[in-house]
Amino acid sequence: MGWLSDHPLVADFDSAANHPLTPQEVAQQSNTKVHRVCGSGHRWPASPDNRVSMGSGCPDCGGTP
Ligand SMILES: [Zn+2]
Repeated sequence: MGWLSDHPLVADFDSAANHPLTPQEVAQQSNTKVHRVCGSGHRWPASPDNRVSMGSGCPDCGGTP
């Protein structure tokens, strides 16, 4: 258990779209969906729990980061 800011998947946290929510305020096991953006600029909503436990990535990039 920890904060999203301490997890590698913080890299696709869309800070602008989630404003004023920050990774420091989101638990890694949270079921609340937050905005994601991948390295290619695709955006999609996903909960931290889904991302951490399932390892799911950007759906437009084939589900793998
Ligand atoms: Zn993508």
